[in-house]
Amino acid sequence: MLILTKGRLSQSNTKYAQGGIAAAVAADDSPALHWQDTMVAGAGLCDANAVMAMVTEGRACVRELMALGVNFDTLHGEITLANEGAHSVPRVLHARGDATGAEIEGALSRYTRRSPVTIRENHTATKLLVQGGRCVGVEALDERAGQFREFGARTVILCSGGAGRLFAYTTNPAIATGDGVALAFGAGAGIADMEFYQFHPTALRLTGAASFLISEAVRGAGAHLRNESGERYMSRYHDLAELAPRDVVARAAVREMEPAQTDCVYLDMRHLDAAETRTHFPTIFARCQHYGIDITKELIPVAPAAHYMTGGVLTDLQGRTTVPGLYACGEVACTGAHGANRLASNSLLEAVVFARRIVLDSQDIDVPDYALPPQREADLAPHRHVRIDIPPPATHRKRAGGAMPALQQLMWHNTGIVRHETGLAAAEAQLREWLARAPIGATRRQQEYRSSLVLGLLLTTAARLRRESRGAHFRQDYPDANEGWRRRIVIAPETRRSGSA
Ligand SMILES: Cc1cc2nc3c(=O)[nH]c(=O)nc-3n(C[C@H](O)[C@H](O)[C@H](O)COP(=O)(O)OP(=O)(O)OC[C@H]3O[C@@H](n4cnc5c(N)ncnc54)[C@H](O)[C@@H]3O)c2cc1C
Repeated sequence: MLILTKGRLSQSNTKYAQGGIAAAVAADDSPALHWQDTMVAGAGLCDANAVMAMVTEGRACVRELMALGVNFDTLHGEITLANEGAHSVPRVLHARGDATGAEIEGALSRYTRRSPVTIRENHTATKLLVQGGRCVGVEALDERAGQFREFGARTVILCSGGAGRLFAYTTNPAIATGDGVALAFGAGAGIADMEFYQFHPTALRLTGAASFLISEAVRGAGAHLRNESGERYMSRYHDLAELAPRDVVARAAVREMEPAQTDCVYLDMRHLDAAETRTHFPTIFARCQHYGIDITKELIPVAPAAHYMTGGVLTDLQGRTTVPGLYACGEVACTGAHGANRLASNSLLEAVVFARRIVLDSQDIDVPDYALPPQREADLAPHRHVRIDIPPPATHRKRAGGAMPALQQLMWHNTGIVRHETGLAAAEAQLREWLARAPIGATRRQQEYRSSLVLGLLLTTAARLRRESRGAHFRQDYPDANEGWRRRIVIAPETRRSGSA
């Protein structure tokens, strides 16, 4: 087995996960309740069977993580569970307070390095090799050697993470440029739900400071959101106030910032027990302190930032994409378990549950299919299939750089939290123009730029098509949900190509 990764093994979104991993492990919880909460958050677009697989197998996967060396926080020998937005009971397992991702990434990396698996760092996957319609390997740029190499494989599993770097403000690290979606699309795979990019409502917004997530668990612990006038405003937007779904909290922040002409709102933890704040949120406490903010005594300036790619490469319940031989797992995949809006802390869960299913399926071991009896509120209309044409790259590898900051600004302003046909149409035209000029990458940065352009076009296309507002997708010109749109949008390339898009 071979792992290719474009930076060091540890460089990932996983490492930065703070809140934790959701699983129905408590005595007063059940997979049925977790299923219900996930379906509600997904705003009518979840694949009910994918959700059932995730919540049912989650408990065993969490135990497996512990066996692999992940230490979740405990009190008197019992796992402690946090509450997060839109979960009806506390069910989020965490580690070292708010360093859950670092704990999981560290344990799994150590385990993998001790195993017989070959790890090649600084290898950027640049193309999926397709023969006779089947994925048979990967082309990758070995950055140290400055060479492109081909790796044959019986099975290829894409697990290349998200794409927050597509936007000007994001909680994601530099690796998150959506390469996997562009590679899969180039190989002919179907891409689904791209319009539902999730914006986290509370990222640190401070001039000169890198965007940094202030976890939802902070609001779960009782922190309040205040506007420029000091008013606690969330109860004007939702009964659950600060614990409303993320899209509601993010749009509320935008609405509060506009009239005050500010670029942030404020998280208030001053009324919480200071010692507990330091114990439960050591990473957030230290990072804010670094910027001169004592979160136990001062307000934290926050604003929404791109956070999670809900859509991605369409898979079935076994993690298979529409290209034989190619699986997708984690944030790059779209299993349907999140619908139009991911429930907080379900992404780590989805990644581990479907990783396990993929490993079993690729070894021809049966995995349960969870075919639920038909139920009107859970069943979706057939997918809306669309084919689009992407301007092909120049065939030569040129060393000209792309304008990533311009792309990030375009996506933030035209395809961000609040969308409108005028902005979306302008974005699509601009992206097509940039794509026509972008050469096939000779370097990792160029490759990432082109992948981001492809991703931007897929997202914009889906956002233009969906003339309604649902979950993480909000259109000013179509502000209500439309029952006729309770279907998923799947985009595939106009003509099948075996090269990278
Ligand atoms: C700040 C932050 C906080 C979060 N908090 C939570 C939370 O509390 N709970 C939760 O459930 N989720 C959380 N999430 C989301 C969750 O962490 C991610 O969805 C999940 O970890 C993604 O895992 P992954 O394995 O799919 O991708 P990643 O962990 O991002 O790994 C992808 C890997 O692929 C590599 N790669 C990418 N492109 C290429 C290429 N072309 N060639 C070779 N390698 C490539 C990358 O370098 C990286 O190593 C958070 C995310 C962020 C950013």
